[in-house]
Order: sequence, then C-alpha cells, then structure tokens
Amino acid sequence: MITIGAALDAVLASARPLGAEEVPLVEALDRVVSETVTSPTDLPPFTNSAMDGYAVRGEDLTGDRQSLRVIAEIPAGSVSVAHVGAGQAAKIMTGAPLPAGSDTVVPVELTEPASHAVTVGSSVVIGGSVTAGANVRRRGEDLSSGATLLAPGRVLGPADLGLLAAVGLATVRVSKRPRVAILATGSELVAVGEPLGPGQIRDANSITACGQVLRAGGQPRLLGIARDDREDTCRMLAQALEADVVVSSGGVSVGEFDLVKEMLEELGVDRRFWGVKVKPGWPLTFGVKGDTLVYGVPGNPVAAMVSFELFIRPAILKLQGRSDVYRPCVDAAAAERIKPTKQRVELPRCRLIRGAGGWTFARTGPQGSGALRSMTLADGLALVPAGYPGSESGATFPIMLLDGTSNVRPPFPE
Ligand code: AMP
Ligand code: MG
Repeated sequence: MITIGAALDAVLASARPLGAEEVPLVEALDRVVSETVTSPTDLPPFTNSAMDGYAVRGEDLTGDRQSLRVIAEIPAGSVSVAHVGAGQAAKIMTGAPLPAGSDTVVPVELTEPASHAVTVGSSVVIGGSVTAGANVRRRGEDLSSGATLLAPGRVLGPADLGLLAAVGLATVRVSKRPRVAILATGSELVAVGEPLGPGQIRDANSITACGQVLRAGGQPRLLGIARDDREDTCRMLAQALEADVVVSSGGVSVGEFDLVKEMLEELGVDRRFWGVKVKPGWPLTFGVKGDTLVYGVPGNPVAAMVSFELFIRPAILKLQGRSDVYRPCVDAAAAERIKPTKQRVELPRCRLIRGAGGWTFARTGPQGSGALRSMTLADGLALVPAGYPGSESGATFPIMLLDGTSNVRPPFPE
C-alpha cells in the first residue's frame, strides 16, 4: 500500500490538460479559461453621466444659487452635438455621453424646478454644491483597451461573463470538459427505479459519482451496471475506456468475484498502484491507457466518494487546466474522543462547529464505509494519522473541507 500523497502524485503526474474549445457566454459559467483574454476596448467606452441631472462646466459652479440655460436634452442611447459653454447646461440621463464642453454632472435632486418642467431653452437653478468633475464615469476608468481581463485557469463566474459581454466578446475559449465514464460492478446491484430481487441492493455509486463529476466540471456518462462475470465486466470496461476518465466502482478488493483489476490488465491498462493507506477506501486501483485515467474505486459508497474526493476530483480539475485542484483545509479541535488508528490514515466524516475558541468538529454518526449518511451530514474529512495513539477531546486535526478549492495540498499525514 502507498501513502495518500504518493497516490495523489501518481494520479496528477498522469493527468495532462485537455484541449480548448470556444463557447458562447451563456454556456461558459464555471468553465475554465484556457488563454489570456485582453480587452478589445475601453470600459466605459465613452465618458458618460453617472446620474440623471445636468451636464455643466465645473468652473461655472460657484456655490451660489446660480441659474444656467438649458441648451440640450440627452437621453441614454443618444449623442448630442451640443457644446456646453459658460452659463449653460445640458439635461442628461444616466449613461448618456457627456456633451462637449462639460465635465461635471449636477444631480437632478439638487436642481429646481422639477426635471419635467425644464425644457430646452428654459433655465435650471443649481441649489446645492457639487465638486467639479463629479458624477462622471470617464472613458476607460474601469478597464483600458489591451488590459488583461482573464488569465488562464480562471473559473468563469457571472461577473466575468458580464465583463466579457460589456467589452463585446460573445464567446470565450475554455478548456474542454473531461468526459467521465461511470460504471458500477456487482451482481447484487439494481438501478434505482428497477424492482429489487432478494439479496439485491440499489446502485448508489453511479449517482453519487455523477454528481461529483458534474461538480468538478466533468461530463458524466453513466454506463450502468456490470455483473460480476468476466465477459460483462470486460465489455463495459472496454466501452468506458473511450472516455478521458473511467470511474468504475466495486470489485477491486480481495474477494473471489473482484474481477476489475484483472480485466483492466487484460484490456491493456497500465496499473500505477493498487492499495492506499487510507480508511475508508484502501482497495483503490489506478492505471492509465493512452491518455485515459482509469480508476477502480471500492464499492462501499463512502469509500467510493472519499476516493473520488482524494484522487479523482484533483485529476478532473487538472485536465481542465486548473492549478487549484485541492480542497481547502482548516484546523479544528475534536469535540470528542478520537480513537487510536492502525496502519492507515483515517478520514472520519465530520461536521464543523464554530465555538468561542474557534472551530471544533464532531463525527457525523456511524462511520462505516457503507454508511452514506455520514457523508450527507459532513462538512469535511478529519485527517487522523496512521498509528495515532488516540486522544481525549480537544486534540487538533486538519479538516479537509468537502467544498471550495485551493492551490495548497492538504497536509495528508502518513
Ligand atoms: P465491493 O467493493 O464490490 O466488494 O463492494 C463492497 C460493498 O459495497 C458491498 O457491500 C457492495 O454491495 C457495495 N456496493 C458495491 N457497489 C455498490 C454500488 N454501486 N452502490 C451501492 N453499494 C455498492
Ligand atoms: Mg462487488
């Protein structure tokens, strides 16, 4: 068996970023930018008013109640040829281009009479004080043409997409989403929705893996259930190998019907490791065929999910060109006794609780590697070293969160 760190090194060494594709903005949310994007334009593209009011010459604002003659009206979306001279003003709406000669906008709230009563040719009285240059959004003040908008590896959020739209870029080049083939192995398994026979259980792993793959930006493809016989297992694994990543669950332990490792070997998958010093999830196997990353995760649902978190999610993120492939960690004090561990690092599922003295954690009920409820309640996985002698409450451990991303690898113990 190898350490968590060595297994992760092996996985990441095999994961080479996929190519890029161009997508429309409405399909680009959460996608990963594949090349530097620079702005083709200034933003704002022209100097404009930040308020509804009157465009004036700042030097005309003496502070007294002064009267200015209105020479134009400029709604948003139109451009005025007017030139604002001394003693003049142009009625202007938010977003309209500032007319020549003006450099300041007096908000309508500081003027009399009411805006609707002011027409071109009439006068407006400035009632309050306004600093010269105020209430104007200058061309390029947010962003100048040629400035870097997005760097490679950036995960696109709503604001990024809005910014791309604002500068007129209708599409963006992003990393391809890894295709992830998911299959379950086990003659006892039945797809959800199908009737259960005696001794049968439902396939949960395909569904959890599908969710985990989507969250990591991959494209899941559910292949279904392979029975524990050579032909069925081999046929489905062969089909799965067309994807960028294969996630097969079950059949990798030491049972008589655990055929996955042998079938992968027959299919030419080059095994990199089998067995990791971790609980839950020790029987994980990983290999490669061409550029395809092939995982056989254990069948117990918690073990399958934890294997994904530790070793599959980082690879799916790296395939998309990301460097923040890890989960963030926090230190927290155990709110309960921690039992001694044996040869494997143990990862109890835990809830975090914010107390007066900082974060504490408590395990989420029964911790069997098949007890999926322990995952549903969990904020993170506590990292308890192998050979740990045990401790009373209060001992501090790193907690690997089950949400968020980080560039920093969690301090996996050995
Ligand atoms: P295995 O790794 O094949 O020895 O399976 C270990 C345990 O996980 C057994 O109790 C299986 O019935 C169970 N199991 C395997 N695959 C699944 C699955 N897809 N969904 C739910 N339980 C599973
Ligand atoms: Mg099995």
